[in-house]
Amino acid sequence: MKLVSLDTLVKNPSISSESAAVASAPFDQADFDTHVMTTYGRFPIALDRGEGCRVWDTEGREYLDFVAGIATCTLGHAHPALIEAVTRQLQKLHHVSNLYYIPEQGELAKWIIEHSCADRVFFCNSGAEANEGAIKLTRKYAHTVLDIEKPVVLTATSSFHGRTLAMITATGQPKYQKNFDPLVPGFQYVPYNDIRAVEHAISDIDEGDQRVAAIMLEPLQGEGGVRPGDIKYFQQLRKICDETGILLILDEVQVGMGRTGKFWGYENLGIEPDIFTSAKGLAGGIPIGALMCKKFCDVFQPGDHASTFGGNPLACAAALGVAQTVERENLLQNARERGEQLQTRLKAIAEKYPHLFTEVRGWGLIQGMELKADIELTSIDVVKAAIAQGLLLVPAGPKVIRLVPPLIVSPEEVDQAAQLIEQALAAVAT
Ligand SMILES: *Cc1c(COP(=O)(O)O)cnc(C)c1O
Repeated sequence: MKLVSLDTLVKNPSISSESAAVASAPFDQADFDTHVMTTYGRFPIALDRGEGCRVWDTEGREYLDFVAGIATCTLGHAHPALIEAVTRQLQKLHHVSNLYYIPEQGELAKWIIEHSCADRVFFCNSGAEANEGAIKLTRKYAHTVLDIEKPVVLTATSSFHGRTLAMITATGQPKYQKNFDPLVPGFQYVPYNDIRAVEHAISDIDEGDQRVAAIMLEPLQGEGGVRPGDIKYFQQLRKICDETGILLILDEVQVGMGRTGKFWGYENLGIEPDIFTSAKGLAGGIPIGALMCKKFCDVFQPGDHASTFGGNPLACAAALGVAQTVERENLLQNARERGEQLQTRLKAIAEKYPHLFTEVRGWGLIQGMELKADIELTSIDVVKAAIAQGLLLVPAGPKVIRLVPPLIVSPEEVDQAAQLIEQALAAVAT
């Protein structure tokens, strides 16, 4: 493949994907399955290139992408700003380790702090890793400041916090834990959006040297079914945490930054967390994770926590490129407006099929359509039918169809997605 100069690339981003399309060999699924572990139930298409909100498979078929790498490709595919940020950084310096100061890391941390309630940031590489950091910080704070010998972290049922051992334990869904025991001690579950359950759990757990040290929740449950947090619940929770010293940790890995039409999910709830995490959309698809902390940031001392790749120049340059583009192109406003348009269209579709759907819900550009529990049709059936129509969607559990397009999505693309969903439903409803 011929190398293209940076200037040419930045002026004409599709060059890279066009030349890649010419260079790619036919895809051999059986060969792939022989070599890659069988951890995923994949849809049988192989994606080869993308531009904006569209991707093409190895056969040249075009899809409208309302998955965006699972709420990750904030600027869609082959966005000139991301290409420029990453390419320039690669040519300058891409990785050095945290043995030294990384200017781009400081710049990104400063941007996050200026656009959130955070006072300090730690960078890593994924959502699960950011959440692990949040639990380590919580435990050290509990042991050294609160003097709790056996700290417990409350999490919610139907939550999702990642796939490491501690995070499958934090995730309140048995299907992610099955056969991986023994699980990590120090987690207990409460139903989401239920303040009485939290009060009961706290009084049940607090006994002897065991106490609740933190409550970790998603501001909107993503994988667990696109379930928005209840404002009153989170405000009461904030009050309980203020009165008891229990830390409020928000897992913003899916909704921060920007997806709900605000930088952070908690802005939809009128509260501020003590600790929050981000990953998916933060660098627009370049791997990154971030742990943000409001008070007690100096609980972590040199040597307490680390990551080889965490906050490297490449990932931070990508995230800065994404952040600046979200601001310059008013993508928060676009997320709000397109989100409203999408929700209106989806509600109209759900009303046309009252025997299939119970509810359409979400914030900004994370929307879910919930199928009735007592029908056979599952979210995977609808997603497969949508793929056949040229639209990528992703399930959020067995009954919820999730729509998480890039934040650059246009009104025409939202209309087209709604049309393709209607066609997909017409195909499966018969
Ligand atoms: C995706 C997700 C995670 C896990 O992130 P990884 O980068 O896959 O480790 C954690 N929490 C939430 C809310 C998520 O949506």
